[in-house]
Amino acid sequence: MCGFSSFLQAAHPSETPLPNAAIVDLIAAQLPDLTHPGDGSGAIKLPMASFRTAGIPPEMAEQFAAKAGYPSADITRLIAEAIVHLIETQGASEIIGTAELSRLRRAEAAAEPKRHRQVQVACHCGTPLFTATIADFDSDHAKVAGSELIKAMRTFGSECATGHRLS
Ligand SMILES: [Zn+2]
Repeated sequence: MCGFSSFLQAAHPSETPLPNAAIVDLIAAQLPDLTHPGDGSGAIKLPMASFRTAGIPPEMAEQFAAKAGYPSADITRLIAEAIVHLIETQGASEIIGTAELSRLRRAEAAAEPKRHRQVQVACHCGTPLFTATIADFDSDHAKVAGSELIKAMRTFGSECATGHRLS
């Protein structure tokens, strides 16, 4: 197991939350018997004997882990956590279940018609001012065709009392 010390350097304790536990469990369980999907001619087993810890006396593993400053003696799980952490940090990716992703995509598609809307804007006095196609209507940064809007506004006066007619 000492071979791992070269690439599993104990880092300083950090406040970052533990990586996605379900995915860590999955990777840790599968690391000793990884299956590569293959290049079209069928899946290939990638036996990784280094991750089979059955033969190592637990006290020896504990000692090694304590000496190296690892949070636990379960090297396979530590590596699984490190892999998920890498994906979530440097990979800037969240691991998300297929069902949840489908739900989010459906919600996104349902929100699409709200994103671009044609709205009629009137003054509080009731005088219609303009009709504009507004993009990103559902966000805090809505957009309109500015030059057309500004041209249209120049045809109005500022007074509600005169119905915004230019004097
Ligand atoms: Zn008005």
